[in-house]
Parts: sequence; C-alpha cells; structure tokens
Amino acid sequence: MGRRSCLAGGNRPGAVKSGKPDNLSPATRLVQAGRAPEWTGPVVNPPVWRGSTHLYENCADLAAGRADRDGEFYYGRRGAPTQWALARALTEMEPGAAGTVLYPSGVSAIAGAVLAVLRAGDVLLVSDNAYEPSRTMARSLLADCGIETRFFDPLDLAGFSARFCERTKAVLLESPGSLTMEVCDVPALAAMARERGAVSLIDNTWATPLGFPALHHGVDIAIMSLTKHVGGHSDLMMGSASAGPELYPRLRAKAQALGLVVSPDDAALALRGLRTMGLRLERGAASALALAQWLAGRPEVAHVLCPLLPGAPGHDLWARDFTGGCGLFSFVLTGRTPAHRARLIDALNLFGIGYSWGGFESLVIPFDPQRARSETSWPPAGWNKDDRLGVRLAIGLEDAGDLIADLEAAFVAMDAE
Ligand SMILES: *Cc1c(COP(=O)(O)O)cnc(C)c1O
Repeated sequence: MGRRSCLAGGNRPGAVKSGKPDNLSPATRLVQAGRAPEWTGPVVNPPVWRGSTHLYENCADLAAGRADRDGEFYYGRRGAPTQWALARALTEMEPGAAGTVLYPSGVSAIAGAVLAVLRAGDVLLVSDNAYEPSRTMARSLLADCGIETRFFDPLDLAGFSARFCERTKAVLLESPGSLTMEVCDVPALAAMARERGAVSLIDNTWATPLGFPALHHGVDIAIMSLTKHVGGHSDLMMGSASAGPELYPRLRAKAQALGLVVSPDDAALALRGLRTMGLRLERGAASALALAQWLAGRPEVAHVLCPLLPGAPGHDLWARDFTGGCGLFSFVLTGRTPAHRARLIDALNLFGIGYSWGGFESLVIPFDPQRARSETSWPPAGWNKDDRLGVRLAIGLEDAGDLIADLEAAFVAMDAE
C-alpha cells in the first residue's frame, strides 16, 4: 500500500462525499458527516494521525506532494485526515459551505476570518452585542493592522445602514449577542452588507448551523467556537470558520500564513463531541426554557433574557429564523446589590462559577449589561437604569427540576442577610 493511498481523490475537506443523498436531515448528517472510508479504514472514526513530518516514497513522490492542495499530505501544518474529517464534517453541517478552516480557539477563528477579508484602510462594522474578546480584538489587533472598527446597535437597521462608508468592507454579527442576548435581523443585515459590497461574518457559536444555518440566511462566513457545543465536554479549545467557494480559499490561505493548526487529538475529541451535539443542544434548550419560565415568575428577577421564552426580547425573530437554540441565557436581578448577587451565585451547588459554556455541566457568571455595550443606548426601553445585576446561566445536562431547586434555595440564601 502506498504511503499516500489513504488520500485517494475526492477527500478534500471541502468536498462532500459523492453518493450521499443531499436531502438528509441535520440529525442524520451529524452522524454521517466527514466520515470517508479512505480516512477511517475499517473503523468508525478516523484514527488520530499525529505527526509533523509526512514521509515520501521517493523524490518524484515528494515533488508531487509539494502542491499546495487542500486535503493532501505535505507537512503537519497542513493537517492530516483527523483534522480534515472534522473540517469536512463541519462543512457538511453548514448548507452552502464549500470548506471549513479549523483554528486553535474561537477567538483565533474570529481574528483569522476578519484578517482574511480586510486590509489596512478598511472599516469593519461590529455588532454592539459582540463577545468581549471580539471587541478588544477590534481595538487592539485590528487597529494595529490599520483596520478601523465602528460598532452598531444590532437592533437598529436604519442606524446600521447609516454607518456604512466607502471603506466599509466587512460586518461582524452575533445573534443572540453575548450576555444581553439580543436577537438581530441577520438576513436583513447580511443582505444590506452584500448590497454595499461588504463581507458579512457571524459568530454563530450560540445556535450552531443546527439552530441557524447562517450561510443559508445570506451570511458569507459562519464562525464558531468549537470549545462550546461541538466539543461539548469542557476539555478542548478550538474554533472554525466555514464559507462558500469564493471566500473559503481566502480563509485557508490566511490561516496557513498565520501558521494556525489544531492538534489531531483535539480534532478527534471535537469529532466525537459533534456526533452528540444535536441531542445535547435539544436537551440544553428544553431545560433553559423551563428555567427561564420559572425565573420569569420570580419577584427577584427584573428581566429574563432568553430568546427561547415566548414574550422575551428577541423571541419573535428567533422563532422566525432559528430552528433551535441552546442552554445559554441570562437574567437581571431587581432591587438588589452586587453583594446580594454574589450571595446568590455562591449559594448555587449545581452551577460551577466559570467562563465558557456548551459543556455538560451547568455554569454561572455575573455580568453588567451596561458595561458590555458602547454604542447602544442603554438602558433599553422598559428597563430601569439600575437594572445592572446580570447573571448568565449555561444550562448543562443535569435534570431541570434539580437546577430549579438549586436556584430556589440560592434565592433564599441571597436575601437571608
Ligand atoms: C467563548 C466564545 C468565543 C471564543 O471561543 P474560545 O474558543 O474560548 O476562544 C467566541 N464567541 C462567543 C460568542 C463565545 O462565547
């Protein structure tokens, strides 16, 4: 068997295996995606191909392998079947995608994708509810590269339109936004960006393509922190960006220029997580809705920021555009102090205090909704100016009744002093 025989044609990360019906539902595609017998041999999952060096048969073989082709052995930085299988699986999960680039974290996926489409002198519009490290990146890394960032209120379509200038070349969206969970009209914003010749990118970590097929809704580049739902077990860091045939080569070229690689061990873990992601998302969303409903009836709570909850902000757009959700949402306390909130959080037994989300264990962090914004007029209509005691919950796979009981006891502890 030749050393490169596992790489028979048709296995490039962007290519969808021929012979599979293309009308399979997402649940079925989650099981099938990225599984090429040429990569896996007789086992179900691709082996973990560790290695920096790939050996060649002879000089002719070496010369043939030198071409910069996606999905062919060359050198470890270009990956191997473990990474390619994950990349292709993610491509198959994102309707309209021609390929997916893997990055060492979600943040590096955002940086890599933005740098792939912008150059010095360009202007980037960033949704004012974007993830904090994206905002910091705009002010530091992108500013250093000569890229100017302007934030926009994600709920103000007219304001968005007015923010464009000749140099606006890309728009970074996030929906629901981090912490405050506003859902924006992504199809309308993406269409406006396209009309003005700007590339649209979305941080789609919350919904994944299962809940919001972003390219199908008109977005050009769909980014995820795979650390969250795809990994699903709080044991790896990774990110991805998927795009159609025009932009995918640019993503890949920039990531290669930056020397970005993910380890095959982590890629194998992410692939394992991906197979159960649909079930975990459904369970997380169902539990989140149960908790959100319960919280909405509590006198200590001013606002429940959960788009899954009928009547909550963003629910109508969520219901129009999304086919699912996840366990991440927030609420805001009323008539309390930061000390009350600390007592509430410290009293929780089933929620770990920590960043990240999308793992099997429920998590909680405090946040200030006002500090998360720069452009949006705050507080929003219907809010009190001191509605600033935010609590973000990431609901894991525990029993929802147990989580509610934990919260109920913590509310008692909060007011016990
Ligand atoms: C966590 C997160 C990221 C960053 O992902 P890392 O893998 O931690 O770098 C990006 N976007 C959102 C919305 C996140 O919550």
